Amino acid sequence: MRNATADFRKVAVLGATGSIGTSALDVVARHPDRMRASVLGAGRDVDGLVALCAAHRPDHAVIADPALHDALAQGLRDARLATTPHAGMAAFDALASDADACDTVVAAIVGAAGLDSTLAALRAGKRVLLANKESLVLAGGLMMQAAREAGAVIVPIDSEHNAIHQCLPPGGDCGGVSRIILTASGGPFRGRSRESLADVTPAQAIAHPKWSMGPKISVDSATLMNKGLELIEAHHLFDMPADRLDVLVHPQSLVHSFVEFVDGSTLAQLGLPDMRTALAVGLGHPHRIASGVPGLDLLRHGRLDFEAPDHDAFPCLGLARAALVAGGTAPAVLNAANEIAVSAFLQGQLRFLAIPALVEHVLAALPAAPAATLDVLRDADARARAAATQALETGVIH
Ligand code: NAD
Ligand code: MG
Repeated sequence: MRNATADFRKVAVLGATGSIGTSALDVVARHPDRMRASVLGAGRDVDGLVALCAAHRPDHAVIADPALHDALAQGLRDARLATTPHAGMAAFDALASDADACDTVVAAIVGAAGLDSTLAALRAGKRVLLANKESLVLAGGLMMQAAREAGAVIVPIDSEHNAIHQCLPPGGDCGGVSRIILTASGGPFRGRSRESLADVTPAQAIAHPKWSMGPKISVDSATLMNKGLELIEAHHLFDMPADRLDVLVHPQSLVHSFVEFVDGSTLAQLGLPDMRTALAVGLGHPHRIASGVPGLDLLRHGRLDFEAPDHDAFPCLGLARAALVAGGTAPAVLNAANEIAVSAFLQGQLRFLAIPALVEHVLAALPAAPAATLDVLRDADARARAAATQALETGVIH
């Protein structure tokens, strides 16, 4: 019989107040005999973080903005909690790598801001539940190398990659795999022509038909950049070349991806579109634990449809594939330009169709260069942000 106490898990949830973070905490709270949340971290939402601390009683709470340290400390005192307050990105990195603070890290910060803490957890040999796809796009090669060297276990949380992880043998051996096929919901604008997307609003773009997610990934899903980032993510996680990675639009979002093997077999993982399933796979790894998500009633859902992506209406997917093929700094540039573009779109400063235009502009301005070190990648990230911001400010792209 499994000895639950010997494997009792202390879980750090970085990005705790977000969509993935709260889903992770929902699963953690279902298993008080197996695990508890020991570290909770958030960007700027002090009240949200304190409320989560009151519910989950972690040892440590960390807020990214150093100016909010005192507000966090005061909030924890007012709530009569023994949780220790921390602030600043360095505190994220320190807690993610501290052996006493946690053994499992849910990397659920949005954007490249999640890179350092994820890398710190990998270098410390933690069990890392990796939702923060942007860190893999930015520095996937170095992250996978760090994980190998430190013996860290990565459980992909992105639903597609979690599905692939579930379809592969234990240890993730891709030996007999001929192709990986990522499924895509198609987002809120599936089936629409490019012309009809000229005036779509942020509110329309984040109204995802199947998944409830944070604003950045919701816009990425609407442009299909999300699937492009996921191609790069799959390349790193499963060591798969671009020409063996495909995308299939599947509007029901019940098949979360396919793995095709050399013998003609294709395996898929199915389930309701609820991230708690993937998080339970990671939190229980290598055991199966309850997630709160019911099983799939296929009779009720009736049918599974598949179609090819529309590259004319959604050029971001092709831009991401090209960046993957170009390699080096190109994925970092793509990711940084996209983060700036999505942020500007959400603030009403950029049209929807200008998101791919801005990314393409920055990729052309900063051609791919070899990227052997983290410093080179960080520099590419910074230069891409500067080039994107300048293009916005000068009105080259609008
Ligand atoms: P979200 O916007 O709902 O939450 C983001 C979290 O990150 C919040 O807790 C926020 O406080 C924190 N944060 C933001 N900036 C920060 C910073 N600079 N430092 C520290 N913390 C910061 O986003 P989400 O939808 O939960 O997505 C999180 C990550 O998971 C993203 O990389 C996303 O692509 C990935 N992901 C999400 C889903 C989903 O269903 N939501 C699915 C697959 C992958
Ligand atoms: Mg996904």
